[in-house]
Amino acid sequence: MKDHSPFNLDAKWAIVTGANTGLGQAMAIALAEAGANIVLVGRSSCANTASEISNLERKSIEINADLGDKQSWAGIIEEAHQQTGQLDILVNNAGIIRRNDALEFGEQDWDDVLDVNLKSVFFLSQAFAKKAAAAGTKAKIINIASMLSYQGGIRVASYTASKSAVMGLTRLLANEWSGMSINVNAIAPGYFATNNTAALQADEKRNSEILGRIPAGRWGNPEDIGGAVVFLASSASNYVNGVTLPVDGGWLAR
Ligand code: NAP
Repeated sequence: MKDHSPFNLDAKWAIVTGANTGLGQAMAIALAEAGANIVLVGRSSCANTASEISNLERKSIEINADLGDKQSWAGIIEEAHQQTGQLDILVNNAGIIRRNDALEFGEQDWDDVLDVNLKSVFFLSQAFAKKAAAAGTKAKIINIASMLSYQGGIRVASYTASKSAVMGLTRLLANEWSGMSINVNAIAPGYFATNNTAALQADEKRNSEILGRIPAGRWGNPEDIGGAVVFLASSASNYVNGVTLPVDGGWLAR
């Protein structure tokens, strides 16, 4: 029987960057659970994610790419399009963080983070939107922002700059592309237990400070982000444009 749920993603193809682990892996699986086939983009093998998607009887292909390499961006979208013939959803998830005092923060740690977290997001989105516009696809772009899109953070200058910019860029792209039936939105994860936050989780003092401030009283599990990405990838969000949706256990409500 056909599933008429507005959250149904049957026959859609979604590109997810950084799909080998953490939030990217969880979002790729959540999108596949909703029916989508997935283009897994990563610099590390996405074989584990691919096998979970196959267990869900959905298709996946893998594109190996280092998003720190500017030459790779347009080629990723081209290859995904060639292999699938159809692009519906782009989740710009891959991201890195570097920690140092602002007084000591180096240019390499600035450039590396801005290239992956911001510049690749823009140029992947641009290449994707060109394909979607040419095909007349009703497309969805979902960027991954952060609590540091709203707050200053500490010792993570380039990360805060990149994630604050991701929220602004999401609004700009929504302004330019909503009329072309391309919805651009973002998700701002709160504190999730992944590799990205391993240093914070391991720091007893910071860990208990963070936990004490989360109204839900726990770190997010990667699966907690699945509902938000499916919503923003589906027709249920057709009239949602330019928002950054916090998924944070109430962190920003404090
Ligand atoms: P993670 O476990 O460290 O995953 C990051 C992903 O990005 C990995 O797949 C990683 O690949 C990939 N990646 C990094 N640099 C790349 C590059 N140059 N080329 C290709 N792929 C690259 O962290 P996560 O928590 O799942 O982070 C996912 C996104 O959520 C990031 O944008 C992060 O900033 C954001 N976020 C996370 C939290 C949180 O609490 N965890 C909160 C707010 C926002 P490798 O495994 O090969 O390094």
